[in-house]
Amino acid sequence: MKFYFLLLSLVLYAALSNGQSIQNKWEKKAQKLAQKFIIVDGHVDLPYRLKVTNFRLQKEYLGIPYKTDTGDFDFVRAKEGGLDAPFMSIYIPSKLQVEGGAKELADSLINMVEYIAKHQSAYFQMAYSPKDVMRAKKQGKVALPMGMENGAPVEHDLSLIPYFKKRGISYITLTHAKDNKICDSSYDTTRTWNGLSAYGYKVLDEMIFSGIMIDISHVSDSTFYQTLRYVRVPVIASHSSCRKFTPGFERNMSDDMIRMIKANDGVIMVNFGSTFLDSEVGKHNDSLRTVLNQYLEEKGIKENTDEAAQLKLDFSKEHPTLFADVYKVADHIDHIVRLAGVNHVGFGSDYDGVGDSLPTGLKDVRDYPNLVKVLLERGYSSKDIKKMCSGNIFRVWNKVLKNGSTLENKI
Ligand SMILES: [Zn+2]
Repeated sequence: MKFYFLLLSLVLYAALSNGQSIQNKWEKKAQKLAQKFIIVDGHVDLPYRLKVTNFRLQKEYLGIPYKTDTGDFDFVRAKEGGLDAPFMSIYIPSKLQVEGGAKELADSLINMVEYIAKHQSAYFQMAYSPKDVMRAKKQGKVALPMGMENGAPVEHDLSLIPYFKKRGISYITLTHAKDNKICDSSYDTTRTWNGLSAYGYKVLDEMIFSGIMIDISHVSDSTFYQTLRYVRVPVIASHSSCRKFTPGFERNMSDDMIRMIKANDGVIMVNFGSTFLDSEVGKHNDSLRTVLNQYLEEKGIKENTDEAAQLKLDFSKEHPTLFADVYKVADHIDHIVRLAGVNHVGFGSDYDGVGDSLPTGLKDVRDYPNLVKVLLERGYSSKDIKKMCSGNIFRVWNKVLKNGSTLENKI
């Protein structure tokens, strides 16, 4: 009996340590690949965080360059996670469509990104093409390409599209949370244009001509279909996930849309926000929020007070918020790959943009290796992962740039 027990223990030990060494193997390989490959992220909301919180990337923090304790992104953490080129989101809130000042805000956010690259040139560099990103990577810097989230700054004047191209904008998300002069938004039920406006088609023409990528994240389904039927250049979804896991959530991509992106040769960059990944998690957190808000209202406690903050803290201890995890992000990638293949998927985290809703295992820009590890475990080759990290977005970006310059030369 003793002998059998010993034998069983040995077998179990061998199996466990074998499992562990496989885990270690994937972990090491993932770390290596994340550093080796260029990682581009389609959407990081750093500029608006800088603007809203008046937060600055410190020159040094505890003797380490540019490490910060808040937010999801800084130089040190980016390097740790292998992130080489986060698209800086030049985010324009929809309210400015009514109040005015969209162009001015866009200019000031661009100035801010340029300021970082200029004054912290040992660490950051502006990027206007994949070539610029590659150069920055070679020099050990983080490249800062820019995408404008919301076409509001160009909604009154087409000449502002080449203007923003010259200022370094590489993609424009046609709209944000509300319908604008260009098209309808997924979040807005007004359906002002039932898709694109007549002006919106002109915006698409001018973007194609200027070599700016068209971003269809945030648009309504009708806008998506009309855009895809109209353009002959690949488009991107800079930060969208799959609707399969969030039924009825128009902000994410349906299966049919994913197939259409494949036919268009575009790329879907998966959003990491938990509500984009799992509708059950989203529903749970929404209902907690409703209960809490009702309670605050009943007690007459005002938002943004110390009392409200303490109450929220106590409430969250008793009713913890749920989060999706890194495996769920991989599920979304798997789903896109099943429908469209490995050439049409990338990462569009929305770091610094989705608040405390990031999945377990992907809490900030240090964590890309965790995702790479899961992808390796699921059988993706290094070549596949390289495409997801940057190959696919580079293909689209180069094609759009080339097409723009070819059109320009024809004039
Ligand atoms: Zn967004």
